[in-house]
Amino acid sequence: MPVPPFGPGPDPRSLLVVEDDDALRTSLIQVLHSICPRVRGAATLAEALAACAEEPPDLVLLDLGLPDGEGSELLAQLRVLTAVPIVVLSGREADEEKVALLDAGADDFIIKPCGSAELIARVRGQLRRSAFSVAARAAARVVGHGVEIDLVNQRVARNGVLQRLTPTEWSLLRALILHAGRPLTAKQLWDLVWDREFGDYAVHVRVHITHLRRKIEPEPANPRLIITDPGVGYRFVSP
Ligand code: CA
Repeated sequence: MPVPPFGPGPDPRSLLVVEDDDALRTSLIQVLHSICPRVRGAATLAEALAACAEEPPDLVLLDLGLPDGEGSELLAQLRVLTAVPIVVLSGREADEEKVALLDAGADDFIIKPCGSAELIARVRGQLRRSAFSVAARAAARVVGHGVEIDLVNQRVARNGVLQRLTPTEWSLLRALILHAGRPLTAKQLWDLVWDREFGDYAVHVRVHITHLRRKIEPEPANPRLIITDPGVGYRFVSP
């Protein structure tokens, strides 16, 4: 797979800031103007949905407390419309809250108040990851650490030896690769891979991740491709 440049990241064409506090929204827009010529603002859930429908942004910065709904609702509604990165602006720091927001489709969190440098770094990081996962979708091929994964032809070789994956393992691997660089919670993987609503998803996901690691990791006990993010979930790291 072509390695994306690890510089400042791709230049976004348009960003959307959803924040009901006028002064804060204005200052966030001002800061983001330094990396993007077009930054739109929305003060409500309704405005944000209209802005996304009118012209899809490359990334959404989302405040959680909005007058016409909780940010988590907007998050869920936005996710139906778009796959672009959503960075949540939050004053809340509870881990369960973060996991719930990741489940609803958030890509990253910024705790308010936050400085301009951190804001730009986080936004650029997400834009890089999103360009990277677009590249992953286009190439659908991962090579490194002695492992070759070809998603299109459903072929995996480790040190030149073909590995047989079950259909579930393929779906799991595909989901992880298409979100490369971004942690997915067990619940997200469950929803993406298993088409049912019952069962102990945490156990199912963990067991299948273990099987998958035995087949694709150069050293299954010391994973380098499918990393566990403690307290959050699993993340595919492209070599
Ligand atoms: Ca607010």
